[in-house]
Formats: sequence, structure tokens, C-alpha cells
Amino acid sequence: MAQAQVVEKKQMRAPIESGCPDGMQFMHPLMVKNFGNWKYHDRPRPGVLHHVAYSGDEIWTVRVGTQRQLGPYEINLLCDIVDKYGEGHVRFTIRSNLEVMVSKWEKVGPLIQAFNDAGYPVGGTGNSVTMISHTQGWLHCDIPGTDASGVVKSLMDELYEEFIKEEMPNRVHITTSCCQINCGGQGDIAINVQHTKPPKINHDLVANVCERPSVVARCPVAAIRPAIVNGKPSLEVDEKKCICCGACYPPCPPMQINDPEHSKLAIWVGGKNSNARSKPMFQKLVAAGLPNNPPRWPEVATVVKKILYTYKKDARDWERVGDWVERIGWPRFFELTGLPFTKFHIDNWRGARNSLNASAHIRF
Ligand code: SF4
Ligand code: SF4
Repeated sequence: MAQAQVVEKKQMRAPIESGCPDGMQFMHPLMVKNFGNWKYHDRPRPGVLHHVAYSGDEIWTVRVGTQRQLGPYEINLLCDIVDKYGEGHVRFTIRSNLEVMVSKWEKVGPLIQAFNDAGYPVGGTGNSVTMISHTQGWLHCDIPGTDASGVVKSLMDELYEEFIKEEMPNRVHITTSCCQINCGGQGDIAINVQHTKPPKINHDLVANVCERPSVVARCPVAAIRPAIVNGKPSLEVDEKKCICCGACYPPCPPMQINDPEHSKLAIWVGGKNSNARSKPMFQKLVAAGLPNNPPRWPEVATVVKKILYTYKKDARDWERVGDWVERIGWPRFFELTGLPFTKFHIDNWRGARNSLNASAHIRF
């Protein structure tokens, strides 16, 4: 009896909340059946992938752009379309595209039509501008300087045609990041927050809210020191050293760095993770100090489109943005795009040894 109770207790344990569930259980049955046994794939039209397995099975995947922040209305709308025209199986890509798998080519047309009728574009495959990968923004994170999701929605509204067509020299991956330190990614074009002033410290709150040694250790250039201010333990920042990275703000919110006027947006180009045709590349800064101007960020959209359409016109087939710039050279990039060039652009990391040796963490 005692043993039976123990077993029952074990069965009633709540599932752990970390990690995601095993994806196999949600996969389309044809994908489970042919897992690891695909012969080839092609793209019959923009937004549709076609996979053929060694067994002879075929599957078509329709890729749909979403606005990323989906409420119950949008989720129900999309799922109703999938239930009616698809086969009940979907997945989300890391760039917030919805992918719907069907086992017959005849189902692809009506599925695309239903998504288009509901206002959702089909595309984002091959040499297109696929959905922008972006960070959480105001809705989910506690430290953003802007709403990454908002920048994405407003930009993709303007790049709609480039999503539904495959007319770029190669694929274009755009990324955004709403703080300077955490989850931003490498991108052919990346839009990142850029703080331009050191944090303002609310000394009344530091002692109650912050673990001062952790905050001091967090600064990459050792600009923070413990201090007593107005008789209370607090912190001070050596503003000459501070690089305005914002790393002290997450562990110590009284060190406020977000500012409606001084938190700007910067644009970086030429990053990629792929090693097809050329090695992976770091992105480089090409435009800084753009206003953080919600809800549609028009100044950012203008610069992104300028870079994108110059690349589209001037790059050779299969050159990624970084490859194109490597071939024509940075001076020509600034000439062609008309972006102003300053001494702060195109860091070749020559000074990195000195900057990093100022850090509390790294020594070269
Ligand atoms: S980029 Fe920074 S602010 Fe944005 S979601 Fe990630 S951690 Fe939060
Ligand atoms: S962590 Fe960054 S923002 Fe904070 S003081 Fe150091 S350099 Fe400045």
C-alpha cells in the first residue's frame, strides 16, 4: 500500500517548466515517417518549399509572415485557416514565420489564397527579405530601450513586396535588438539600440534594490565604483570611461540608461552566420544616432531601404550584403548609399586590445 502511494505521488508530479516539449509529437506524420531521409528539396514558387523523401513521399510547406505579437484573435484566425485548408500541423520559425505542411500540391493554392484573403503574406523563402528576427521589446522584457517588435512591424509593412518575391541577389536577414547587450543577432542589416549617455543613478534606491558588487563586476570597462552618497551606500560612474552599454541597468534598475531623447538606434551591416561561399562575418556600424521614433520609426526605415535597394541594384547574383561590401569596399558603400561616413564607423577592431584591457573581466 505504502509503495502504491509513492508511485501515485510520482505520477502526479508537475512537469518541469524549463525547456520545450519534444517536437516530434507535433510534427506532420509524413515528416515523422521520413525523418532524416529526405532526398532533395526545391521551391516551386516564393513562399513554398517542396521536400521529396527517399520513400517517394512529398510534402509542401507554405511560409506565412506574421506580425509576431499574436493575440487570441490572430491565433484563432490562423488556426482556423490551417484546419480548413491545411492538415492541422504548423510550426513557427525563429523569424516568427508560420509554416504549414500539406501532403498534396493541390492544397497549396487554396491555402495561400486563404492566408492572403485574411491579410497574411506568403513568402520569405530563397532570395527574399524574410521576416526580421527580433527581440522581445516592451511587451516581455524589463530592459528594452525601444520596442523591437514595433520596428519590425513598421519595417515589414514597407518591405512587403520584397517578402513575397525572391528578387534579391541572395537572401537578406534583418535583425533588431532593443538593448545593446543581450539578445541581438548577426544580420545582413541589423537595427540595434544605441545609448549615448551614461546611466543616471537614483541614489535613494540603490542600497535597497542593487547588489553593489554584482553591478561593479558587470561593467565591461570597470567604470563603476561603490560610493557613499547622502550618507547611504550607493554607486558612482566614471563617465569618461563609460561606453554607455547599459549592462549595469538590468541588475540595478536605479541606474536608468533608457532615455526618450538620448537612446538612439544604430544600423549595422554585413553580418552573417552562414559559411556558404564565404566565411561567417561580423556586422559593422554604418549609421548611428537615428531617432528612436515610435510607432513607425521613419528615419530607420529610410536608411534600411536605402541600403537594401542599393544592394539589390549593385550586388552580383548570390552575394550576401557582406560579400557585396567586401567586393566594392567600404568607401564605395558609403558613396553608393549616400550615408555620411564618420570616424566612428567601420571598426576594424584595431583598438580592441586597449578597450578590452580596460575591462574588469578580460585581459590580453
Ligand atoms: S535585446 Fe535586450 S531589451 Fe531586448 S528583449 Fe533582449 S534582453 Fe530584453
Ligand atoms: S556597465 Fe556600461 S553603461 Fe554601465 S557604467 Fe559600465 S560602461 Fe557605463
